[in-house]
Amino acid sequence: MTLAFRYAARTDVGLVRDGNEDSGYAGPHLLAVADGMGGAVAGELASAITIDAIRPFDSADLTDPVTKLSQAATSANGKILARIKDDPRLDGMGTTLTAGILHEERRLGLVHIGDSRAYLLRAGELSQLTHDHTFVQSLVDEGKLTPQQAEHHPHRSLIIRVLDGHHDAPLDVMTIELEAGDWLLFCSDGLGNADIRDSMIAEALREATTPEAAALELVRKALRAGSPDNVTCVVAEVVDTADLGLSPERAAVFLGDQPVVVGAAAEVDRDGFNADADELTTSAAGESTTDSGSSGAAKTGEGDDGDTGQAADAADQAGDAGEDEADKTEPDDQKSGKAGAEAGNTGKPRSRAAKFRGLARPLRRFGAGKR
Ligand code: CA
Repeated sequence: MTLAFRYAARTDVGLVRDGNEDSGYAGPHLLAVADGMGGAVAGELASAITIDAIRPFDSADLTDPVTKLSQAATSANGKILARIKDDPRLDGMGTTLTAGILHEERRLGLVHIGDSRAYLLRAGELSQLTHDHTFVQSLVDEGKLTPQQAEHHPHRSLIIRVLDGHHDAPLDVMTIELEAGDWLLFCSDGLGNADIRDSMIAEALREATTPEAAALELVRKALRAGSPDNVTCVVAEVVDTADLGLSPERAAVFLGDQPVVVGAAAEVDRDGFNADADELTTSAAGESTTDSGSSGAAKTGEGDDGDTGQAADAADQAGDAGEDEADKTEPDDQKSGKAGAEAGNTGKPRSRAAKFRGLARPLRRFGAGKR
């Protein structure tokens, strides 16, 4: 039996933030979410650097892939430090990383740091594969809080371990055996920050017919709940390629053979922090925020016509009973047929005002209340 991913990724800036510091990646053998933090564009930069570091390992032909993936995460931490040394204004940036690699045909190797999460839905039951590196989770581990109390704790977003360049940041590394029919979700804490609970996640994964539908529904749920945070969902359905009845080549096309990159990793100009001009630039598609990606033949790029505010407002008004209305206001990126799963560098730069809205924010240091 050879297992494969059918995959999709979605992200949204949410209803409060100016920019999207999350990055998501979905490919034939690798799934990842990185949730950046730090002032100005630094959070975007940290998560983009980290996705850049791991994505070369989206391959079935690696020896010891889990070690390679963790070494890539450690190298990302070094690259973040190098950027901070180049420009001290970037100090305070950091990122979570939750990444999983499919290897040996049916194993999932996980590398994890921070408070992004990997979930497994198996036979309709949801389990969290990762352990949050947060203050409240450490209280739960010590028996001082119940998991239910932790969910509503005012300091639930206080993160205690992250890739920030400075700290020796030990990664959690684990491997699980996958089964055909499993579903995987990798998500940023934006889902939890919008009060999307495990039962709602399980329901969305159980009811979705495709990973794209599941990722979209989860992001919609967060927006309807008034998501204050960036929210990113990477979803994969685990399929047995033998069940597809297709040649390996056709199976690859059916399942998706091109990676999908969303959020900061698809948008931020890695060299865009120009110290001389004291200005941040991005090559993002304008103020667009509803990035999307899907796998397979319907693969599309990031939408440059999405207006998240309108979409979210409409979705909000539509409520649970108004699926159709929400559908109408969904950015049309799924139908636009733009080529390139890694699109996102096609748009106009953000306005100067937009750039400096970001600069006006204080640096958000981890430990001081990561949002
Ligand atoms: Ca977040």
